[in-house]
Amino acid sequence: MSLLLTGISELTTNDPAHGDGHARRADPGDALLGIVRDAALVVADGEIAWVGSASEAPDADERRDLGGRAVIPGFVDSHTHLVFAGDRSAEFAARMTGTPYDGGGIAVSVAATRAASDDELRTLVAARVAEMRAQGTTTVEIKSGYGLTLDDELRSLRIARELTPHTTFLGAHVVPREYATDRAAYVDLVTGPMLDAVTADGATSLAASIDVFCEPHSAHAFDGDEARAILTAGRDAGLALRVHGNQLGHGPGVRLACELGARSVDHCTYLDDADVEALAAARGTTVATLLPGVEFSTRSPYPDARRLIDAGVDVALASDCNPGTCYSSSIPFAIALAVREMGMTPAEALHAATAVSGRSLGLDRRVAPGQPAELAVLDAPSHLHLAYRAGVPIVRALEL
Ligand SMILES: [Zn+2]
Repeated sequence: MSLLLTGISELTTNDPAHGDGHARRADPGDALLGIVRDAALVVADGEIAWVGSASEAPDADERRDLGGRAVIPGFVDSHTHLVFAGDRSAEFAARMTGTPYDGGGIAVSVAATRAASDDELRTLVAARVAEMRAQGTTTVEIKSGYGLTLDDELRSLRIARELTPHTTFLGAHVVPREYATDRAAYVDLVTGPMLDAVTADGATSLAASIDVFCEPHSAHAFDGDEARAILTAGRDAGLALRVHGNQLGHGPGVRLACELGARSVDHCTYLDDADVEALAAARGTTVATLLPGVEFSTRSPYPDARRLIDAGVDVALASDCNPGTCYSSSIPFAIALAVREMGMTPAEALHAATAVSGRSLGLDRRVAPGQPAELAVLDAPSHLHLAYRAGVPIVRALEL
């Protein structure tokens, strides 16, 4: 059964094959987005079958008129921590009255997550994924990291795996309290029994990637040597690498990620020139994923996206949805912050939250024949409204 979608005022394809030759360019990034105006799409068996101008659209079994709306690739949220229980709203309120964040509140979520039943956790995670879909996110990465025991990390990954193939083992989120006086024993647990169990049924059975919170500025996180040991063990076990780096201050995370060929290094808030050069040299391999919801929610300085893009770095945007530093699952919110506060153009921000974040998960997010029909639709005529109408719920996953 094929479906012809018409009434698309503006289609973002992320495909350089489109978007040339159109006179009306509000944003020089339109070429980046491969925009087709007055577009049509044919979808068959969950895949894109045809893309082009409405005037050239082929026939199909069914037709649907979208009434002059913009269609974009569904957002790829490549950095989330959705598997948790408990409520840390009081911590947010305290932070807004002057208590600084140092990573210690994670222990509160760890206690609540360990205490929750499988069904309670499953219900919480599914609700969060549904909330994201209602805001245009069609692909989500989910990390473990609030279990921090072998059984609780495995349970978190199993529940995440029911909702996405893009799961990440983050046993190295923080050093749990019971290991505070013997950090090396916890690193041994993560790189030994935990990693063995995660990869027991084949390298990517429960997790596609491994991640580490590399942050010497937090007493709870991992330093450069510990992070290297964790990432190297994960790589040797066949997992792709992701890194939390340079969030709270300058640190070794970014350069370690580039050196080890990580798919993504996330936060990138505090960078020196050598970090930026390393990221630019790693273009095509390592993406810098910016998470501006965190700086918003912790009242911290934003990363300098303009500096990174101008240096030739691949820049992605994601939510970092988590109970401590950013309990927002909204990619449109991240886009609005990136445009308003971080020097990105609207086109760069949309590209970062679809094509580049997708690439960091090994996905091709072009709207092109043969690609999965993972799309979002706006109650607006162009993608510019994502940042322009900040806070207004105008975008949702396109249900076919
Ligand atoms: Zn994170």
